[in-house]
Amino acid sequence: MAYNIAIDGPAGAGKSTIAKLIAKKMNLIYVDTGAMYRAMALYMLRQGVSPEDAATINETCQQADISIAYEEGVQVVYLNGENVNAYLRTEEVGNMASKTSVQPGVRKKLVELQQKLASEKDCIMDGRDIGTCVLPEANVKVYLTASSQVRAKRRYDELTAKGEKCDLEQIRLDIEERDYRDMNREHSPLRQAKDAVLVDSSAMTIEEVADAIIGLCKK
Ligand code: C5P
Repeated sequence: MAYNIAIDGPAGAGKSTIAKLIAKKMNLIYVDTGAMYRAMALYMLRQGVSPEDAATINETCQQADISIAYEEGVQVVYLNGENVNAYLRTEEVGNMASKTSVQPGVRKKLVELQQKLASEKDCIMDGRDIGTCVLPEANVKVYLTASSQVRAKRRYDELTAKGEKCDLEQIRLDIEERDYRDMNREHSPLRQAKDAVLVDSSAMTIEEVADAIIGLCKK
């Protein structure tokens, strides 16, 4: 049986930064499920599909072949054979992903891919429904959160460092809207699994959070 760590939490809680660090320290594969939902959203944007058009989204997602590879330790997402990593981390794609990921057709397809990966490889997987839905039997489950203020500031710093122009208040509003949508959708809403450990990273450093989670794994 592969060893699996599940990390869920709202946007900007630091899941990917922490998961990457733990993956390195514990020699695990890092699986970023948000990137898969983003790749699907990119496909919908390119096809000109409206985020409100549920029937077309559920139909169109069948044409999107999404696969994952690891190149020099980095997760690469392929969309119909194209490496799309460079296009995934924009606010436009993130907001579209938050809308298209509510559709059951999209979720079913990506959850199957995630479960297959986790059954084959020791991994740390992050997302919104990993502990509750994708890997209910994960060895360790963490619900990682932080205040929306702190999360918005982190996202702002990340985007500014990449040279993207952005507005802190707008990012906070987008984050709160995305949280609301993720927590209140019908299919696999963002929830803390009953057996997940809550970690609030608002006042913790990256190293402190990683060490706390590694401590849980050693228990
Ligand atoms: O984590 P990230 O911001 O990359 O995720 C983008 C969007 O994909 C989220 O806002 C969420 O709506 C969706 N998502 C999801 N389930 C996951 C991972 C991401 O619904 N396991």
